[in-house]
Amino acid sequence: MGRLFGTNGVRGVANKELTVEMIARLAATVGAFLGREIAIGRDGRTTSPMFRDAAISGLLSVGCNVHDAGMLPTPVLQHAVKHNGLDGGIMITASHNPPEFNGIKVIASDGVEIPREHEAEIEETYFGEGPEPSPWDTIGSIGTLQALEAYNEAVKSHVDAAAIREAGLKIAIDPGNGVAALTAPEIARDLGCSVYTVNVNVNGRFPGRDSEPRPDNLDGLKRLVRASGADLGIAFDGDGDRSMFVDEKGEVQWGDRSVALLAKDFMAKNPGERVVSAVNSSKVLDDVVTAAGGSVVRTKVGSVVISRVMVDQGIMFGGEENGGIMYGPHLQVRDGSMAMALMLEIMAKAKKPLSELFDELPRYHQLKDRVPCPEELKERALEALRGSVDAPEVGTIDGVRLGYEDGSWILFRPSGTEPVFRIYAEAESPERVAELVDEHKALIASVIESLG
Ligand code: MG
Repeated sequence: MGRLFGTNGVRGVANKELTVEMIARLAATVGAFLGREIAIGRDGRTTSPMFRDAAISGLLSVGCNVHDAGMLPTPVLQHAVKHNGLDGGIMITASHNPPEFNGIKVIASDGVEIPREHEAEIEETYFGEGPEPSPWDTIGSIGTLQALEAYNEAVKSHVDAAAIREAGLKIAIDPGNGVAALTAPEIARDLGCSVYTVNVNVNGRFPGRDSEPRPDNLDGLKRLVRASGADLGIAFDGDGDRSMFVDEKGEVQWGDRSVALLAKDFMAKNPGERVVSAVNSSKVLDDVVTAAGGSVVRTKVGSVVISRVMVDQGIMFGGEENGGIMYGPHLQVRDGSMAMALMLEIMAKAKKPLSELFDELPRYHQLKDRVPCPEELKERALEALRGSVDAPEVGTIDGVRLGYEDGSWILFRPSGTEPVFRIYAEAESPERVAELVDEHKALIASVIESLG
């Protein structure tokens, strides 16, 4: 059977890998699976209105009533589905992918992306006989859904708005021409911040920078922070669920460290709690969580997996190394604007520069690398590697993760999207992390070669 869903929904190059016909059939299948009342939203990509209309047609054809929420960030649609008691939602977006891509994220009634097993059921119907079309007299209806205002109010309700207003912070915001432009600046202004923006016009061609915020493409934001004297900067990905922070010196702080800083605050308010993260994120999270008497639940890589573990086990905080932050009291999904509001609260209460708050976290050195591996050898290579490694701790939640007495660790896992093994490693010194990577890179390469 074919596959449609990847790590985060369905993605492909518009009108090549992903067509209007596919989206209409997929939306009909999703609607038949989820129920009658379905919300729809879209990001700012040039092909999003076209796919939105195709998805609406598909949904109507199986008798769904469509609640069109227009252009908005993914977490806003997720909030609207949950808080309006709808049966589910479809977000037309390719998140942080280049402008020629598009896709959909399927949202369940609890506001979280559907679990992997539901994706498989939808694929089975999609590639099989397809959903049953409704007769002419039970076709669904189309209405509109106002989602932005209720969402903005919800985000503000989860922080100490008075304390943030009192602090009068200056913030530089870079939505990267994505749809976070529709929420983040307004929320920050409502919280009494002076707001400076770059790349704030929604534009599906992403003229300002790649829609994935990375340390190497945030020069515009870094300059804005320095020029405006902002207390912090924040960049969002294309659909506003991921965020990346810049401190007042204009230094980009990698996702792991933002997750840890926010987790530290969460643990101070909720000592002994558990938090969720994937096997590829930093030990800095374990340090702050265990110091507060809690523990970190590790999952396979992928935000959907983290969110679903949070829902199933009633856990209220989760995070990803790429800047995905899930704050459960609001929504158990990644939400960039929520992360922004929480960071503003931390700064307002600590009354310290952001760089200082980050400096209080333990510091580790990380390396990421890759080893080429043909698709057909991945499974066997992983099997062989499990048998040929030796370390005090060997984890097999996702790939192979080796842990050592000095706290260093290395993870290698077959990529879900490219013919490579991805390597993640971390240690207290740059020498130790380099040594770990060199040694295991050679091992992985020799195992793959012996199989080929
Ligand atoms: Mg995204």
